[in-house]
Amino acid sequence: MSAHYDVVIVGGGIAGLSLASALAGKCSVALVEAEQTLAYHTSARSARQLIPSYGPAVVQELTLRSLELIAAQDAARPEPVLTPRSFMLIGDDATVRAEASGRMHRITPAEALRLCPALLRNSFTAAGLDTGSFGCNAPLLLADHRERAQAGGVDIITGARVHSAQRLGSGWELGAGQEGFQAAVVVNAAGAWADELAVISGVEKLGLQPYRRTAAIVDVEHPLPVDCPMVAAADETFYFRRDGDQVLISPAEAVPSGPEDAQPYPGDVEALVARLNTVTTLGIRSVRKAWTGLRTEAADGVPVVGFDAEATGFFWLAGQGGYGFQTSSGIAELAAGLILAGQGAGSAGGTTAASPASRTAEALAATRWSIRR
Ligand SMILES: Cc1cc2nc3c(=O)[nH]c(=O)nc-3n(C[C@H](O)[C@H](O)[C@H](O)COP(=O)(O)OP(=O)(O)OC[C@H]3O[C@@H](n4cnc5c(N)ncnc54)[C@H](O)[C@@H]3O)c2cc1C
Repeated sequence: MSAHYDVVIVGGGIAGLSLASALAGKCSVALVEAEQTLAYHTSARSARQLIPSYGPAVVQELTLRSLELIAAQDAARPEPVLTPRSFMLIGDDATVRAEASGRMHRITPAEALRLCPALLRNSFTAAGLDTGSFGCNAPLLLADHRERAQAGGVDIITGARVHSAQRLGSGWELGAGQEGFQAAVVVNAAGAWADELAVISGVEKLGLQPYRRTAAIVDVEHPLPVDCPMVAAADETFYFRRDGDQVLISPAEAVPSGPEDAQPYPGDVEALVARLNTVTTLGIRSVRKAWTGLRTEAADGVPVVGFDAEATGFFWLAGQGGYGFQTSSGIAELAAGLILAGQGAGSAGGTTAASPASRTAEALAATRWSIRR
């Protein structure tokens, strides 16, 4: 016997959970996650920074909308998800200029050194600062979405990998472990596995590519000041930020991978430690823990959000790349609007009708609307 829902979301990372919370109470929803715990893969492995100046224009719009939505909810929470933490880009003049958007202003190297005294003066010649950037309490945001979803009647099923999905009448029938589900709309929020899910659903894949990115928490001789911005090299060879008395570091690599439970390659973190010890005075002494996650991107680097053109009722929520947290609430709002508009009265979607007139929808529409067209 299959359980019936309006919407089944496949994937319990930040993408799936934020959509579940946006749809909660508005239609019947199940969220199905392959792992025993939610947010086991990339969503447990981020650097937890939300940067309005980062990414293409549409991502920046989605980030601003997400910040508005999260801040509004923070007002009613005992502990906030957002903590102000600027973002600073360093490098040579040409690279900083190329990477800096209108939401980042240029600062002098002397100002950069005042903000981050750990930098060595001769390691950069130009800097930019985004003061609208925030640190993100990712576990709190994820838990909040889960609680809102469950309070609104969403069924969350873990330890159930979707292994089959096919069109059945006007909807979909899915098999996951021992469970069966029927739904008008299937949402593909499967992260690095999004193309794989398309294939088992008989839907043409989009060529989404997962890229490895590693990070580590290290002990340092000289902790960063409390108000130190996150610092990133404009040529994307490293970034670091304060993490209490320790420091989070990353080689900012983007190495293609298949979908998998990615782990650090031997030597990668050690090489980064050696590099950072030559361009900073942090004095990195030891590595507490290191991890690798997969940032999954479409060829144009823009998140893939919308109904598939050919497969009725198949909704893509994938390709968030390195912006999955900073765009999550804006994308969830947009996706929920599209699904509710396209899915009414038990019929399936298959529409690209504009969602409520939000600027996020307009921004995404202007950039790439729609999928495979
Ligand atoms: C080192 C690193 C630093 C980052 N830093 C930031 C940052 O500072 N700010 C930011 O905004 N973003 C950052 N990101 C990116 C961000 O973490 C991702 O964009 C985001 O987590 C992607 O979320 P997701 O829900 O799409 O994917 P995931 O979290 O991977 O979730 C997908 C889920 O789908 C499940 N699944 C797959 N196939 C199936 C199936 N067949 N059946 C059931 N379930 C299935 C998987 O088990 C998985 O749990 C970073 C990423 C990395 C790796």
